Amino acid sequence: MPAAVYVGDGKIVVEEVPRPEPASGEVLVEIAECGICGSDLHMVLERYARPGAILGHEWSGIVASAPRGSGWSPGDRVVDNPPPGCGVCRPCRRGRPAVCLNRAPANFLGHHGAFCRYKTVSADSLIRIPDSLPTRVAALTEPTAITLHALQVSGVGPDDRVLVTGAGPVGLLIVAVLRAQGISDITVSEPSPIRRQRALDVGATRAVTPDTLQEPAMTMRVAEPYTVVFECSGHASAIEAAFGQLDYAGTLVIVGTGFDPPRINQNRVIIFELEIVGAYNYNDDGFQPAVDLLDSGTLPLESLIEPNDIPLSEVMDTMERLSRGEIPGKVMVRPGLSS
Ligand SMILES: [Zn+2]
Ligand SMILES: [Zn+2]
Repeated sequence: MPAAVYVGDGKIVVEEVPRPEPASGEVLVEIAECGICGSDLHMVLERYARPGAILGHEWSGIVASAPRGSGWSPGDRVVDNPPPGCGVCRPCRRGRPAVCLNRAPANFLGHHGAFCRYKTVSADSLIRIPDSLPTRVAALTEPTAITLHALQVSGVGPDDRVLVTGAGPVGLLIVAVLRAQGISDITVSEPSPIRRQRALDVGATRAVTPDTLQEPAMTMRVAEPYTVVFECSGHASAIEAAFGQLDYAGTLVIVGTGFDPPRINQNRVIIFELEIVGAYNYNDDGFQPAVDLLDSGTLPLESLIEPNDIPLSEVMDTMERLSRGEIPGKVMVRPGLSS
């Protein structure tokens, strides 16, 4: 089967690889669509992936074969719903399965992902896509689940003044889900003009360039402080700027991954009683709430997902364009498209 394989040196090449054989209890799924995630960009363009890795984890698919008695049959439309946690360790008991102590460490290097035609998945980790939800839209399930988790850890509510720094696919989804949850005071800071426009399209109240964010004096608030900031760019300078915009008792949620550490003024954390939290994964109710939200008709899907799906052969070029900020929304890879 064809697969977009990381070959090292920051490059992806389409190669023929063996079709995976399902082990006992596994289903063979034909990948319908797979979104390109920011973490895929880091793995490839910053060369963290291991040569031979197949990336792509935001997928929806169609069951190609399933063991008898698994509850699945060929043609069923599915998304993967990895169990959120063990349910018994301390973080799990405290409702934080994203940091379950018993989960295998994230294998960012040896991935066998979904930028390929077929994938094997444990039969009990799949969930069915509702009839009313297009398969293509269902590929947004994983990032939507992560967005719901980021909102949950932030404690954001309708009376918050929210700033989102970085309006790539993740920032846009956060804006859209905030709106769907009744939060309306949302400013987006983003250097790319097409991404600023898209942020407005998906529900931001205003979109500004990062240079308009004021640098605060040591113990002073900026003129227009925010109670909750979602940092979605992963850039150290954006994290530092985001931090400076926080109001008293404000919360900075770090969502964007990056490798350059920011400098944070600890005195400000103390005097303002700030919280800085990370959002890694999903809530303990798994992917179903994300499927339900996507199926609810309340999200501006046509602005969140780029209109033209791409074949495997365009993954490399599209990743470079995404990293340059030339594409605002989520790009769907359709492995079945011929190049
Ligand atoms: Zn992702
Ligand atoms: Zn656990």
